[in-house]
Amino acid sequence: MTNSIKEKINWSAIDTVLFDMDGTLLDLHYDNHFWQEYIPLVWGEREGLSHNEAKAALYPKFLEHHGSLQWYCTDFWSEQLNLDVMSLKREIKHLIQIRPSVEDFLQWLKAQGKQLWITSNAHGDVVELKMAETGLAPWFDHLLTSHQFGHAKEKQAFWHAMQEQFPFDPTRTVFFDDSIPVLKSGEAYGLKHVVQMLHPDSKRGPNTPSFDLAIHHFSELMA
Ligand SMILES: [Mg+2]
Repeated sequence: MTNSIKEKINWSAIDTVLFDMDGTLLDLHYDNHFWQEYIPLVWGEREGLSHNEAKAALYPKFLEHHGSLQWYCTDFWSEQLNLDVMSLKREIKHLIQIRPSVEDFLQWLKAQGKQLWITSNAHGDVVELKMAETGLAPWFDHLLTSHQFGHAKEKQAFWHAMQEQFPFDPTRTVFFDDSIPVLKSGEAYGLKHVVQMLHPDSKRGPNTPSFDLAIHHFSELMA
């Protein structure tokens, strides 16, 4: 097959591989279920609302903050909803799952001497919980969250702040993420390749490609 996805990335010209966490390395089902089902259930029970009433009340609230640093902040939502969001997250931690072929791909990259970084919008506490559940942390040279830089990945300021504290060459960097606004932000910053993950939630259908480089699974990239 000519012009396959594999041929579009020249790995010998790449030093750094940046990975989003939720929906890229890990199944987004956990997060979708948590925010769209579990939080409305717990919050609704306390407020005396049905599950559907709670969803109708909460979804617009969620939408209002989507893509901002606050949206990704467990402390913000704990305060807004008067719930202990982190302890609720732990209650359903069995749903935290590594996506298919992730560990094979990390091993494949590590064998080539690549720098592997997690760049997540998740709160540090959530990254910690997920690393504890999955055991993925040892693969990575850095576990970075947008909270430590003060800007979500959707903003150019995130990339500049990360560059300042953790210098890397964007022209020798590949970035994997499932979020279109985040991928566009990485592209605008000048990353050599941004790769869209098309199937972030195993319980839902895949998304349609919005970028030249788009994959369902990392196995598509391994030689
Ligand atoms: Mg994601």
